[in-house]
Amino acid sequence: MLVVMKPEATPEEVRAVCDRIGQLGYRAHPMAGALRTAVGVTGNKDAMERGRLEQLPGVAEVLVVTRPYKLVSRDVKKEDTVIRFPGTDATIGGRDLAIVAGPCSIESREQAFAVAGRLAAAGAQFLRGGAYKPRTSPYAFQGLGEAALIIMAEIREAFGLRIVTEALDNESLELVADYADVIQIGARNMQNYSLLRRAGRSRKPVLLKRGMSATLEELLMAAEYVMSEGNYRVILCERGVRTFADHTRNTLDLSIVPAVRRLSHLPILVDPSHGTGRRDMVLPLARAAVAVGADGLMVEVHAQPDQALSDGAQSVDPEQFLQLMAEISPIAPAVGRRLPHGIHLSEPAVEHA
Ligand code: PEP
Ligand code: MN
Repeated sequence: MLVVMKPEATPEEVRAVCDRIGQLGYRAHPMAGALRTAVGVTGNKDAMERGRLEQLPGVAEVLVVTRPYKLVSRDVKKEDTVIRFPGTDATIGGRDLAIVAGPCSIESREQAFAVAGRLAAAGAQFLRGGAYKPRTSPYAFQGLGEAALIIMAEIREAFGLRIVTEALDNESLELVADYADVIQIGARNMQNYSLLRRAGRSRKPVLLKRGMSATLEELLMAAEYVMSEGNYRVILCERGVRTFADHTRNTLDLSIVPAVRRLSHLPILVDPSHGTGRRDMVLPLARAAVAVGADGLMVEVHAQPDQALSDGAQSVDPEQFLQLMAEISPIAPAVGRRLPHGIHLSEPAVEHA
């Protein structure tokens, strides 16, 4: 259910509605909009209490939300969610594109610093880097763990980049939440419901990657798990799904971007690195992702991609990343977006693939 408050409702009236919902044994999720506040109600089995809530002061109407996802839905919140990061002007979901870039894994302090400064100079606002890696083989490099988190915290200090890194399980989530600015939940964990709930109890924004065979509804329901615990700062990420195509590692499903934007207020990023698995396809699909309306990009960048301990084949080098930024620079304004502050790339040297 959704309790829509009158535009002139006072904060006390909103609080009284939330208290009443709590007394009924349900959970209230107040969502402030530009014109009015709406209070999502979860945990109710039916709409029996509708009349009781409708009579409270400041309430305009009580609606039944019929979609399976509630808090994620545009029915509950019309305006796009914009996630802000105190101390910076970086946002995810606003007019500015959010650019998340960095190596698949943090391999050493030298390797991470070799790329971070160049990413910041090219205009990325977020550093990505794996500390805990979900690897197909138990014998492959598994990540440096907390040592990697410490390196990324140093990079935040040195370059002002905000940190995005994956929590692989409930144990690593607490540590990741302490160090990172955004907790990444990987494709393999998109339906790990205990992890999603744990992330929902964290105060840090959560970047949720689409499972490799997840439908749009499954992705939105996974986001609903996080939000149902009271964490409303969720970012979705398309990273390709598994198909019969053998010219790429995954098939990047750009059509999910307008579909998400229609159904949900949450921001959605596109990851053309995992989405293709091929360095030569990252730039063309980054251009397409911006054109289709993505709120930003997640791109794997390594100073020496051929030496990378994970995902080297899909990692671009800092020069190519600079080129990527140049190529998206004329596309962003054509679709009503801006590149992050501080980048003035005048000559996009597009080399058409
Ligand atoms: C990653 O971002 O490095 C990663 C492992 O991504 P995904 O979960 O999409 O495979
Ligand atoms: Mn990777």
